[in-house]
Amino acid sequence: HNLSDTRLEFEQAPTEVQELAQTCNMMISRLSDAWEQQRRFVSDVSHELRTPLTLVHGYLQSTLRRSKNLTEPQKEGLEIAASEADRTIKLLQDLLDLARADGGHIRFNIEREPLEEVVQEVLEMGQYVSDRFQADLTPVKALVDRARLKQVLINLLDNAMKYSEADKPIQIKLNHYGDQAYIEVRDQGRGIPLCDLTKIFAPFFRVDEDRSRATGGTGLGLSIVKTLVEGMDGTLKVQSKLNEGSVFTVALPI
Ligand code: ADP
Repeated sequence: HNLSDTRLEFEQAPTEVQELAQTCNMMISRLSDAWEQQRRFVSDVSHELRTPLTLVHGYLQSTLRRSKNLTEPQKEGLEIAASEADRTIKLLQDLLDLARADGGHIRFNIEREPLEEVVQEVLEMGQYVSDRFQADLTPVKALVDRARLKQVLINLLDNAMKYSEADKPIQIKLNHYGDQAYIEVRDQGRGIPLCDLTKIFAPFFRVDEDRSRATGGTGLGLSIVKTLVEGMDGTLKVQSKLNEGSVFTVALPI
């Protein structure tokens, strides 16, 4: 989990084992540098591209709003350009979040929070976009970063909406067992094939590239969710059945 702090130590071992450990340590150190370089590159590029693109998007929007003499094809062209710029800005923001989280650069503000309140707040926001949410919340306090947990839930609920039909309910359950609190997001959507269940948390992986792209997602949502949940010392699990639906479960320490 943290290459930069990982070292093998075999001080009492025979010389040849010590030499081997030293070689391994050199390799770990080079891996760690390469990893950090890659992370910084992604972070810098996303940051550098986001600013001018935000300007381009703003300019396109104001041209669309102010120009009264645009022909239909011109208007359509500008609208497509604006919406692509918007999608790319979101993608860059997601990449930036992921690179920051990966390098341990996201600071978590962990407090003992009543989870039913956090879930309820997200559902209140959600009611403006959909009336499909059904909640069953057992009050429980857990150690979380409130804002990050909201980001996690918004992502999971957004996916549940995107990957299920508009007339199917989405259930959110909160309960606890032992020293863990569990938040379950259950949909009755298209489901995920068994062979892809472990892959969906990798950046840019999509089960069905064309259909998923059409939903407007960036393919980074679940990678961010997993990183955030693990950053709060929680775990994220998924169960799914093709054409029946999926359940994402976030477990958090009480
Ligand atoms: P995206 O922006 O494409 O939604 P995510 O990282 O959030 O990216 O999800 C990765 C992929 O996992 C999606 O493209 C989709 O194929 C699959 N997926 C995620 N959530 C669900 C769900 N609730 N039901 C079915 N498939 C899902």
